[in-house]
Amino acid sequence: GFKMGIVGLPNVGKSTLFNALTRTAAAQAANFPFCTIEPNVGEVAVPDARLDKLAQIAGSKQIIPTRMTFVDIAGLVKGASKGEGLGNQFLANIRETDAIAHVLRCFEDGDVTHVEGRVDPVADADTIETELMLSDLESVEKRRAGLQRKLKGGDKEAAQAERLLAAAQAALEEGRPARTVEVDAEDIKAWKMLQLLTAKPVLYVCNVDEGNAATGNTHSEAVAKMAAEQGAASVVISAQIEEEISKLEPEEAEMFLTEMGLEEAGLDRLIRAGYGLLHLETYFTVGPKEARAWTIPAGTPAPKAAGVIHGDFERGFIRAETIAYDDFVTLGGEQKAKDAGKMRSEGKSYVVKDGDVLHFLFNT
Ligand code: GDP
Repeated sequence: GFKMGIVGLPNVGKSTLFNALTRTAAAQAANFPFCTIEPNVGEVAVPDARLDKLAQIAGSKQIIPTRMTFVDIAGLVKGASKGEGLGNQFLANIRETDAIAHVLRCFEDGDVTHVEGRVDPVADADTIETELMLSDLESVEKRRAGLQRKLKGGDKEAAQAERLLAAAQAALEEGRPARTVEVDAEDIKAWKMLQLLTAKPVLYVCNVDEGNAATGNTHSEAVAKMAAEQGAASVVISAQIEEEISKLEPEEAEMFLTEMGLEEAGLDRLIRAGYGLLHLETYFTVGPKEARAWTIPAGTPAPKAAGVIHGDFERGFIRAETIAYDDFVTLGGEQKAKDAGKMRSEGKSYVVKDGDVLHFLFNT
């Protein structure tokens, strides 16, 4: 599955947001830096109205949404890369994630201590990015030193790694994150294996006061501007509102959102932004027993998409019977779509499209 690491300075609202996200009390919010020491992992159902619609048409007994994993990573402070604070633990946990949700304090509250003594989300973002870049630089230098012997032996993989590490080091030494390095298609796999922290896509999460949830504020505007300059994404969320919503029944939550001038919960926006950031798409399997959503990276060929369900589906892949979401809904289900000639039989080279309703045929 896909994993998002929630990072940010202490006391910016990470735990509050994480609690709301996972609707558990696992990570206790407290007005105290370093409160979340162990990384907390939570799985969140990805809301998708299309899945409900498909289940309704097919009369599916069960609805199984796809899931996204969130990891609440302990707070980072200035000097973390030198082992201060919870530095090393932090860095180990963050390496394993696919993307980073960087929570920034955009709320003013004299009762909540800011570790730097002022509210300045752009400066906070810079503090964390600098620590991550220093950590990357250190690991790049170590790895290049470790490659020397293999390089002399003419190892091809080592040569590729050396080339990529050199590019990363050049960027980092100029003060640029590794994600600014342009990587050729044939190098993407090796590049990802380097697991550089600043190569991961970033989503800035502006934690604003309840009253600013619908509109944002000057702090979140400054973050949006910074994100645009970096080619990153940003969303405005009030962790406190999300916390309240997570305790309400769905109907109450709906009314509460309307009162606050919000169209949907911030959590939905956060997940959607995460999908966009990671270029993720969804396909569906629909039957009388269950309607289920599956997550794949955009551009995934049918056999690989089948492999998300089960490895056997990929290995024995024959073909995929495919109905586009719109056809399924407009025509009123699988049989009617089939009668109308809208069920296509697709082979191994078919690239699955977002919203496809699929049925795989495979050899065992
Ligand atoms: P973490 O250290 O980043 O995990 O931060 P926490 O989630 O523990 O939050 C730190 C403190 O800030 C807690 O007392 C929260 O109740 C408070 N807090 C979180 N979000 C908001 C917010 O949007 N507005 C205000 N006023 N307080 C908040």
